[in-house]
Amino acid sequence: METAQDSIERLAAEVRSCTRCRLAETRTHAVPGAGNPRAELLLVAEAPGAREDATGLPFQGLAGRFLDRCLAELGVSRAAVFITSTNKCRPPGNRNPRPDEVAACASYLDRQMALLAPAVVLAMGGTAAARLDPRAAGRPVRVADLRGKPVTLQPGRALLVTYHPAAAMRFPASRQPFVSDLRRACVVAGLIPGLP
Ligand code: SF4
Repeated sequence: METAQDSIERLAAEVRSCTRCRLAETRTHAVPGAGNPRAELLLVAEAPGAREDATGLPFQGLAGRFLDRCLAELGVSRAAVFITSTNKCRPPGNRNPRPDEVAACASYLDRQMALLAPAVVLAMGGTAAARLDPRAAGRPVRVADLRGKPVTLQPGRALLVTYHPAAAMRFPASRQPFVSDLRRACVVAGLIPGLP
C-alpha cells in the first residue's frame, strides 16, 4: 500500500532533479522540505538561503535556530511539524523569487499540502502569504495586514500568516507577533493545549 511517506519522498526526489525554472541553473541543492509526514502543522517560508542550498535541508542557518528555539519554548519539536517553502531552490543573492519562478514551483507545494493534509498552514513572510492567502490573490501583501486573521483554505484546514523567522529574529517589533502567531498555529493544530 502506498504511504504518505512514500509519496512525500517521491515528490522530494522530483524536486531534487527539477529543472522547471531558471533557479535550477544556480542552485547547489533543491530543498523540498522536511519533517513529519503526518504533521498537522505545515510551515511555509519563501525559499532556501545559502545554508539550505548547501545542505538541501530547510532552515539550517541562524533563522532556523531561532525557529527551533521558538518552537522549543512552546514545547514543540521541529520533528512534529513539516517545513517547506514556496520555491524549493535558492534565488541567486537571496533575491525574491520572481512570479514565473513561483508559478513554476507552485504544484510542488500544492501536492505537499494535499499529501500532508495539515490542519494548519502557517505562511511565514510576504512571499508565502501572497502565494497561499486567498485574500492576496497572488498580489504582493503586507504581513501586518493579514496576520491575526485566520482564513479557512478548505474544511478542516486553516491558514495563518506571520512574519518570516529571519525578520522576527532581526526586528524586535516582529518578534512577539511571530511568537504569538506560532503559538496560535500550534494550538489550532492540536500540538499544544490552549485557546487559539
Ligand atoms: S524552484 Fe521549483 S520549479 Fe524552479 S527548479 Fe527549483 S524545484 Fe523546480
